[in-house]
Amino acid sequence: MKYDFQGQAYVFSTSCLDVLSSNRQRTFLAKEIGGQLFARFTEGVIVIEVATVTSGRSRRTRFGFWPDRDTERQDIARLFENGLHYIGDWHTHPEECPTPSNTDIRKALEIFNQSQHELKAMLMVIVGRSQFPDGLFVGAVTALNILTCRLTDGPFQIVAADACTDDGLQAKC
Ligand SMILES: [Zn+2]
Repeated sequence: MKYDFQGQAYVFSTSCLDVLSSNRQRTFLAKEIGGQLFARFTEGVIVIEVATVTSGRSRRTRFGFWPDRDTERQDIARLFENGLHYIGDWHTHPEECPTPSNTDIRKALEIFNQSQHELKAMLMVIVGRSQFPDGLFVGAVTALNILTCRLTDGPFQIVAADACTDDGLQAKC
């Protein structure tokens, strides 16, 4: 699947999408889970090759995910040795078509502004319960705000992001 943000193409690899899809909160009691996204920069395209699932002492509830920052730092160092750059985070939501919560937005802006990088934008990916792409929110985090990336290509039908509602489990895309 391919997304665009201000002329920059972002392509999600199949193995990355497999990790995200297989962690969807399918059951009512499933807890939120998440991890980091790692990309390779090739000829104007940013390919998101790896989605990690942050283990360690991460705290999880049905409506929240607090990753173990030490484990995350170790993952960043380990993958950097293989030419993979940290480009953002992902986590799940117990809603069909996910949208970022106020806490998500605050945390993402904090990470963008406090970490050392030369990225124009980081990614914030939220995995909902629906099949992709409806169940996938892809946001571009900049210093000031978070904007929805546009789906430009993929094996799925293109659906406008604003067709989604955010009123929880009953939402239909
Ligand atoms: Zn969230």
